[in-house]
Amino acid sequence: GADAILGRQAARESAARTYARSLPVVPVRARGMTIEGADGRRYLDCLAGAGTLALGHNHPVVLEAIRAVLDSGAPLHVLDLATPVKDAFTTALFETLPPELAENGRIQFCGPAGTDAVEAAVKLVRHATGRSGLLTFTGAYHGMTAVSLAAGGDTTARAAVGEADARITRLPYPYDYRCPFGVGGDRGAELSARWTATLLDDPKGGLQPPAGMLLEVVQGEGGVVPAPDAWLRRMRQLTKDRGIPLIADEVQTGVGRTGAFWAVEHSGIVPDVMVLSKAIGGSLPLAVVVYREELDTWHPGAHAGTFRGNQLAMAAGTATLRYVRENRLHERAARIGARMLTRLRGLAAHYPCVGDVRGRGLMIGVELVDPARPRDEYGALPAAPRLAAAVQAQALRRGLIVELGGRHGSVVRLLPPLTITDEQAEAVLDRLSDAIAAAER
Ligand code: PMP
Repeated sequence: GADAILGRQAARESAARTYARSLPVVPVRARGMTIEGADGRRYLDCLAGAGTLALGHNHPVVLEAIRAVLDSGAPLHVLDLATPVKDAFTTALFETLPPELAENGRIQFCGPAGTDAVEAAVKLVRHATGRSGLLTFTGAYHGMTAVSLAAGGDTTARAAVGEADARITRLPYPYDYRCPFGVGGDRGAELSARWTATLLDDPKGGLQPPAGMLLEVVQGEGGVVPAPDAWLRRMRQLTKDRGIPLIADEVQTGVGRTGAFWAVEHSGIVPDVMVLSKAIGGSLPLAVVVYREELDTWHPGAHAGTFRGNQLAMAAGTATLRYVRENRLHERAARIGARMLTRLRGLAAHYPCVGDVRGRGLMIGVELVDPARPRDEYGALPAAPRLAAAVQAQALRRGLIVELGGRHGSVVRLLPPLTITDEQAEAVLDRLSDAIAAAER
């Protein structure tokens, strides 16, 4: 039974296990956005593999693509050798990329996880520029291995592994609700750009020209914080003017999630490097870096790895990329996401504990706050992580799986599959609204 499985897992698995702690569900079957637990209960899945499942669970086109490889007798593992499956994936991926990168770009297969691709991207720009510094942002999340962890915004996580990489400088991310510049939007973007330029151009400031700037277009784990387009354009200009490669980590924002196929498209910026994972593998592990040809200064074998050629993931990924593109699911995500945001903003007006509602497409965050305590110096109410955990638990009781994020763990994150129906979106919001009401009591 479910309880026995949960008990054995809790006894044997590392204390570091995460989702399994707050979501005691034992999934046995899943389809679309519905998961069925071993106890027979059904859940609407708004975590969806932390944003991995663009088409939801077990989408027929994904299953068919995997079966086709299995039935064809093609090898499942051939390191990084060329195969028809890999060729199809690369072709499908390049068809989706910003034209500047598609026409004159290179792909490095990494793998199998997002963090591996982040490591590869940083290594690439360090090699290409001969420099070592890296600019990253407060609240960032890039993974849990050496460089990706050091690049992140979570000091506790970094300290836990004794990771204090002096070559990494964190700048304030434009988190308008708790605004580091005292003002959001375009004016905030302008101030941030000037601040960054001052740091970079001060001859005695100690900040050597860095090898690159690494950013998320919408921070995910950091609490669903979309960067204003004006800010992204300023960062692009500033890095371009100084010959600093810009790396966009689109691990979570990619493949239609934010309402554009790639989140960089909203602002029109073209990064020098894009880090891609999660949805590109159609629910199987796959991670790549794509970048401008000029950065391809690596010698053969400079970046290797046994699992850079997962044939099943590439086939599932090809099917996913094609399906999202052909069915314009990114546009759907924009439409349904906008409607969900509107309804959530209504909730915010109703519940004083909902401090902020934000998002882009189907990447949505609801920041819970404590209205009984005084506002901080920027006018925002204190974060309410305990309330957020209670909302998550109440949501689960109502058959809704949501994840938490943010600097304080006080942001409820919604990352439903892009195939979510209007009725499912309504059901998610009904259950979330009930959960907030129950948790607040
Ligand atoms: N970058 C971003 C933006 C992410 O959201 C994540 C995962 N949440 C990662 C990198 C790391 O990916 P993985 O967990 O596959 O290592």
